[in-house]
Amino acid sequence: MELNCPVCDKQLTATESGARCESCNQDFKLEARCPECHKPLEVLKACGAVDYFCQNGHGLISKKRVEFVPVAP
Ligand SMILES: [Zn+2]
Ligand SMILES: [Zn+2]
Repeated sequence: MELNCPVCDKQLTATESGARCESCNQDFKLEARCPECHKPLEVLKACGAVDYFCQNGHGLISKKRVEFVPVAP
């Protein structure tokens, strides 16, 4: 997975809690978005597994298909 900084478009470094831009000195958290409608997904945690659910009619989205978008906390 490759993510770019929404501010300067440089590649982000993965961190424990999300991603970091070394060039802006800014930490981002990653928000899960639906690949179909690009709306934020509901994160469902069950038995150590995480599921992503789209409330706009796209149902459960497998982690492979989820779009992760860096957002400033
Ligand atoms: Zn940046
Ligand atoms: Zn959707």
